[in-house]
Amino acid sequence: MAARLFAFLLCLAAGGLAGWWLGHDRGAAAGVAAGATAWFIFETQRSARVLRWLRSGDLRAVPRAGGLWGEAAQRARRLLALREAQLAEARARLQDFLSAIQRSPNGVVLLDAGGAIEWFNDTAAAQFGFDPQRDLQQHIVHLVREPDFSAYYHGRNFAQDVVIAAPGSSAARPLKLAVRLHPYGEGRLLLLARDVTAVEQAEVMRRDFVANVSHEIRTPLTVLGGFVETLQHLELSRDEQARYLQLMAQQAQRMQTLVSDLLTLSRLEGSPLPAAAEWTPAPQLLAQCEQEARALAAALDKTLDLRFGPAPPLLVGGIASELLSALSNLVSNAVRYTPGGGSVEVQTRALPDGGVEFAVRDTGPGIAAEHLPRLTERFYRVDRSRSRETGGTGLGLAIVKHVVQRHGGELRIDSRPGAGSTFAIRLPARRVRVQAEAAE
Ligand code: ADP
Repeated sequence: MAARLFAFLLCLAAGGLAGWWLGHDRGAAAGVAAGATAWFIFETQRSARVLRWLRSGDLRAVPRAGGLWGEAAQRARRLLALREAQLAEARARLQDFLSAIQRSPNGVVLLDAGGAIEWFNDTAAAQFGFDPQRDLQQHIVHLVREPDFSAYYHGRNFAQDVVIAAPGSSAARPLKLAVRLHPYGEGRLLLLARDVTAVEQAEVMRRDFVANVSHEIRTPLTVLGGFVETLQHLELSRDEQARYLQLMAQQAQRMQTLVSDLLTLSRLEGSPLPAAAEWTPAPQLLAQCEQEARALAAALDKTLDLRFGPAPPLLVGGIASELLSALSNLVSNAVRYTPGGGSVEVQTRALPDGGVEFAVRDTGPGIAAEHLPRLTERFYRVDRSRSRETGGTGLGLAIVKHVVQRHGGELRIDSRPGAGSTFAIRLPARRVRVQAEAAE
């Protein structure tokens, strides 16, 4: 500042001195005025240069202006450079945040105070079918058209999630989203969406399962209760009493079978996958199955042509009790559903890929195509009364499927109404050994 004042005074002094030399007192006054004007013009030029530079927007080329203006320009440039660096860092950090939110398995949508979409991540785009070009700045309620969501949005009570069907959800492929709005900033909203399809399905299955089990147990219990009452209140002959007790024993047996199947299923679900450490000869499994099948046919008082083909000398690896239970469930179904006079045939063969197949073929009523995909669901029955009459629990094929899957195999069902059924268990090569090999 002092230098600037000194320069100004020097200008005036130089003008005044030159003026005095040319025209004494008057000349000196004019010289001082001329010096001041020259200073003013010089300063104006410098300031105009700096102003032009500031207006140009390109702040890299700092103008060459000395003195105060030059320093002001340099300081402005440094300040701007600092701001630019800070801005770049803030941008990079914002980009990091957005990339992190992009990776979120949950849908994230940012809404402005009016409910218009400001930003969303890819998960939200997939969940709601949003298009980044088309849907930004659209009102959320116009895009998520579920009435439950609209009521939730307008109700302004965001303490809990609202569960809605995602766009594209259908009865065959239900998609459920749990959506929650979180207020932030000044009236803005953060929308989080979680895919809860699996959770909802598990919940529906759990409810159905409890309802089914209750129903299955209530029926024999009611019958049993009725018999107990009859025995308590009626004078019955010995024969009648014996008949009633026999019927009661049947109902108790039915409950026992049901509980035992339920326990088997829960054990299968809870236990680790079986290692192929235990090797059982296939002929042994089949012999046991055959014994059970003949006993069952006799108990049901049925004449069936039961044929067990020769079993190849193979060993199957896994849990023998589970494999036997799977195989005997298929054989017992065939015996139970095939009317007297029909035939049940069990064939075992080594597969070209080194695996093994146990096929149970019957000449029973067969099953219509629409039932086939659901046969292995718990308590699913094509013919309810026939299943109950023959002591079925509706859990047999669910057990078979579990056992087979646990052993890395598959259950194949081939059936047509009137043409009998074939249920085949296929185990992979790693579950099979040739008996001689094992002996070595
Ligand atoms: P269930 O104890 O009722 O037999 P499963 O799970 O073993 O239960 O079988 C499910 C349903 O599949 C049965 O109720 C029956 O309707 C049908 N089913 C199973 N095996 C046969 C078969 N060999 N022939 C005809 N229908 C069968």
